[in-house]
Amino acid sequence: MSSTKKVTLWEQFCGLEEGKTYNFQNLQVKKEYNSNGVYLSTPKTGCTITEVEPFSQPLINPAELPQNFTNTTAAAEILGVRSVTAYQACCNCNKKLVIETSSILTCSTCGLKQNMKSTIQQCYVQLLVQIKESKITVTLFNDILHDVLASQGKSTLPLTEETITAFLLELPTVTSITFNNKIVESVQI
Ligand SMILES: [Zn+2]
Repeated sequence: MSSTKKVTLWEQFCGLEEGKTYNFQNLQVKKEYNSNGVYLSTPKTGCTITEVEPFSQPLINPAELPQNFTNTTAAAEILGVRSVTAYQACCNCNKKLVIETSSILTCSTCGLKQNMKSTIQQCYVQLLVQIKESKITVTLFNDILHDVLASQGKSTLPLTEETITAFLLELPTVTSITFNNKIVESVQI
């Protein structure tokens, strides 16, 4: 019998290569908090992964799996705002810039020198939401936060901790969110 299961790998095992076949020994079975699904994960100790001969029969292609295999959509209510992080990002590589007193900002990642006006404002938030019986913390990155702002006609709202916190707490009840591994991918209000 064969089927497909999601596996979460901890850092020390992340050197595995796509397209190769591995034999896993001693994986843990874990239950997803929000569904009846189960997934596999590497325990802290005792797990071994060895490369083995590839299968000779064709296998299901992970790219053909339905999106709901990894995404969950559920009714959600915002209980509170855990954090709002606003920062200026490099206009070339999009990485966070350290704001200095000098008017010329040098990106520590790609080295680009730029003025404040060239930088891109970014913001991400962590929300505590109620989903069924569970309270979980989910993250909305910049693009999703902007979608939510736009849906409420607030695209021009300044991205500060105060304004964004107030905006999120004044939202009408969120009807549903789609998320994957606690990262929100869409919000329906
Ligand atoms: Zn950069």
